[in-house]
Amino acid sequence: MADGFNCPHCGAFAEQRWGAAAWRTVVSGPAFPIAESHRFSRCTRCEKFAVWIDARLVHPRIVGGPAPNADLPADASADFEEARRILEDSPRGAAALLRLVIQKLCVHLELPGKDLNKDIAALVARGLPAPIQQALDIVRVVGNNAVHPGQIDLRDDKATATTMFELVNAITNAMITQPKAIKELYDSLPKTALQAIDDRDGRS
Ligand SMILES: [Zn+2]
Repeated sequence: MADGFNCPHCGAFAEQRWGAAAWRTVVSGPAFPIAESHRFSRCTRCEKFAVWIDARLVHPRIVGGPAPNADLPADASADFEEARRILEDSPRGAAALLRLVIQKLCVHLELPGKDLNKDIAALVARGLPAPIQQALDIVRVVGNNAVHPGQIDLRDDKATATTMFELVNAITNAMITQPKAIKELYDSLPKTALQAIDDRDGRS
């Protein structure tokens, strides 16, 4: 067992002290080792314990993937966070949840959200840039539990699922964050300039 690693609590690379699991009655008496396979590490920086069984970290739970884009709507963001929590044990489940995130994002963009394929087609008709369409289709296809053997197999590929988190953030950035930022700048243009633009484009 390594004497130093990135602490699963505070994230810092810190010296770790190791101890065995033991059992002691509340009253008094000696402590009995309970299992060689159960070990504790304690971070010298944050002083928190981590629990290991057969050299596998069981506490705290590892959260995978990047944090969700702050502009992701709350209900979709909750699914994104759940996908991060299960990524380690079930990349396939995480991918399915990310597909759901995209579906909720479509509802947020005033699409029906029933058939993701149709929603993406509607976005393409609205002028969706090709890279974002491709990102949406990757999440749609890979997040679909019906992906056949021999194609992308998420049971063995945590990296693919991890990439999907990045894609969902890129999609959110392109569809919510950027338009919002540009609209704010646009609305801050002088009224006369905005009027001139509307006149030019026949909107007034
Ligand atoms: Zn720590």
